[in-house]
Amino acid sequence: MNIAFIGLGNMGSSMAQNLLKAGENVFGYDLSEKALQHFAAGGGVVCDSPQAAARQADIVITMLPAAKHVREVYLGEEGVLAVLQAGSLCIDCSTIDPQSIKDIAAQAQQQGIQVCDAPVSGGTIGAKAGTLTFMVGADAQTYAAAQPVLALMGKNTVSCGAVGAGQIAKICNNLILGISMTAVAEGMALGAKLGIDPQALAGVVNSSSGRCWSSEVCNPWPGISENAPAGRDYQDGFANQLMLKDLGLAIEAAAQAKQPVLLGGLVQQIYQQLCLKGGSHLDFSSVIQQYQPHAG
Ligand code: NAD
Repeated sequence: MNIAFIGLGNMGSSMAQNLLKAGENVFGYDLSEKALQHFAAGGGVVCDSPQAAARQADIVITMLPAAKHVREVYLGEEGVLAVLQAGSLCIDCSTIDPQSIKDIAAQAQQQGIQVCDAPVSGGTIGAKAGTLTFMVGADAQTYAAAQPVLALMGKNTVSCGAVGAGQIAKICNNLILGISMTAVAEGMALGAKLGIDPQALAGVVNSSSGRCWSSEVCNPWPGISENAPAGRDYQDGFANQLMLKDLGLAIEAAAQAKQPVLLGGLVQQIYQQLCLKGGSHLDFSSVIQQYQPHAG
């Protein structure tokens, strides 16, 4: 396959490397010179614009920070849709709002180009190991075309429905995650303040009805979950600024749908404050510092 890969950052660089390791021809573009050097070192062909990469490809994959970058790369004056042939496939793996990918897909459809959204979970570790989960929004034909490519970068591909449904799944999951992590932090901090040993409390919660991923796998209290970011000063995890971004997407989508997200709004403000205090790059379990600055 000839694949254009646009956005070779923390996630995209590892995903592109996995395509190269699988023997694909990958034509890459990024604004960052450092990202391009790393890509070239792994055997990628460096291009000087998104269009230059797309001209050589029948599949385009994008892994960009936010919707404005994705819109620019597909629909902008120098966008890839202007140069792709009918029958090409575009896969956007960025986390963005559902409407933006629907707009891009509508434009592409007029040119006979297939588009799907395939946001990921698994983080930078999953990207490197090739174990990402892709949440795909696509019609059946586009899903069938995208699945073999995604399988080179991940271990699970979930069909969520029509274009945009992958983004809906991603932002709703992360809304739940942000709220559940904050709830666990609140309960752990209260328990410690009231005098129970945090280990004992976590043991009870994790065999009771309070149990969830945040309490069991990524407990915010240091030393409870093995290998969790809490045990390494909240470094190298899922950054607060990314959680804040995803909560913002959920709240924006909820506003458009006139659907209340009461806890989501509150938790968004908590993460906003964490970022303002200089914690943007810390793991999102550091939300416990809002309750107990010196947990553990
Ligand atoms: P990143 O900032 O490390 O990488 C994005 C890359 O895009 C950068 O290298 C940047 O230079 C490049 N870029 C920006 N505008 C561009 C343009 N117009 N043309 C070409 N390149 C451009 O971000 P990341 O951590 O790799 O995340 C990418 C996406 O994946 C985001 O939407 C993020 O929310 C999502 N995501 C990230 C993680 C994670 O753990 N990092 C997990 C799940 C999902």
